[in-house]
This record gives sequence, C-alpha cells and structure tokens, in this order.
Amino acid sequence: MTFEKLDRIVELTIKYTTLGTLSIGAGDQPQSTVDSPLIRIGGEPVIPGSSLKGALRSNLEAILAQRGVAVCVPYTAIPNDIRKSGRTGQYLQDIGRLNTCKPNEEICPICQMFGTAGGAQGLSGHVIVLDARLKDTFDPAILTERTHVAITRDTRAQAGGALVSVEAVDAGVEFSGIIRLVNPEDWMVGAILRGLEVLGYLGVGAKKTSGYGQLQVEPQQVVIRKLTATGWEATAGDLDAYRQAFDTRLAKATG
Ligand SMILES: [Zn+2]
Repeated sequence: MTFEKLDRIVELTIKYTTLGTLSIGAGDQPQSTVDSPLIRIGGEPVIPGSSLKGALRSNLEAILAQRGVAVCVPYTAIPNDIRKSGRTGQYLQDIGRLNTCKPNEEICPICQMFGTAGGAQGLSGHVIVLDARLKDTFDPAILTERTHVAITRDTRAQAGGALVSVEAVDAGVEFSGIIRLVNPEDWMVGAILRGLEVLGYLGVGAKKTSGYGQLQVEPQQVVIRKLTATGWEATAGDLDAYRQAFDTRLAKATG
C-alpha cells in the first residue's frame, strides 16, 4: 500500500468477545479463513484481519445499498455464468448495484474506503484491519471441540452424514484488534464504526447462520496520530463524533 503523503492515521481499538462457540479453521484447508472465523497463528487462536475486513466491506455495501447509495459489486462477486453470457448489465440492474469500479473512473464510496479489487492496477484503500489477538495470555482451557455434519463444499449438501470434529473457542473469550485508517475523511471512520455494529449482529465466517461466529463488538478508543514537524503527535478522538460524520454524510447522499 503506498500513499503520496502521510498526514494522519486514525487508529481504532476494538474488543471482540465470543458470544458462542467459535470454530477454528484447519490450516490445511485453503478456504478455512473464509469458513471459520478463527485461525491459529503460532498455536494461538486469532480472528484474521482479512475476515474482519471482508465482513466490514460487505456490511457497509449492504448499509449503503439499503439507503439508496450506489455502490459497486466486486468483480469476483458477479457469477461466472452471468459474466460469460453477457447478462452483467441486467444482473446489476436487478440487484441495484454499479458495475465493478475501475481505478481511473469515478469510484463508489466503498472502493474509496477499501480500494478497488483490481489487483496490480487497483486503487489502494484507506483501511487496514489487523488480526485480533487474545486479550489475555493464551490458556488452552479456552479450547473445546464441536462436532457437526460434514458439508460438501460445492453443493453445500450433507456429505453422507459424516460427522466431523472441529476445534473451537469457548464463549466469553476476549480478543483485541486494531483498525487503522490512513488519511481518512471523518465519515470513513464513522462508516467503520457503523459497519462494526452490523458485525455484532451478523457475526463473521460462513457458518454464522448456524450459530457460529457470533461476536460482541465494542470499540474501545480512537487515537489520531498526526505527523508534525517534530514527529508524531497522538490525540484521543471522539467515537460518537465520527459516527455523526458518517450519518450526516449518508443523510446528504440520500437526500
Ligand atoms: Zn466500487
């Protein structure tokens, strides 16, 4: 991620508490970070920043789309058969979304925040989501096992009723994570806070509908770091003021 200049970094500290049992993805499954809200790093359960960022992005897409603000569909989210058959235009119209933003054109608020998903030519976003790590020293007693019926990935059908056991983390375990916004506009910080509220309702991970992935999400503080002539200067910010900035911007955008 590169920036022409670095004016300020806004840093949110977030506490995540597991409300139910949260499964830990097995490292040998490439898709595990998508399906499981937790992975292991150095033996310890961690909520990956990439999962949190993905959930935040889709929550905010939903919030804005629901309020009538035009947001794009990530290229990879458009089904292959629709793209190949040239029905993309109709598809976008049906779901009320813009075509995937391109870096040299006008870009939607989501891509302004998170960047365009266009690989090397993509526009970098303002949001960096770090992995959330255990608040306390790792105690293996927080680990448990969950048994569920194996699901065939492609069809989501039950695979012959086979039971699989997955490692999981108990309810009531606290994690702490940082979200950094580089040179953000105030509404972007508020948008992250609103997106986090939805994260608390919907959870993370593909199994959230069956009770996995429920998290209590509590922003703890916001610190603004500014680069001055004498070095970095840190001041505490007001979470509610940022929420207000987003709500005001949203009200303007929707008239
Ligand atoms: Zn976009």
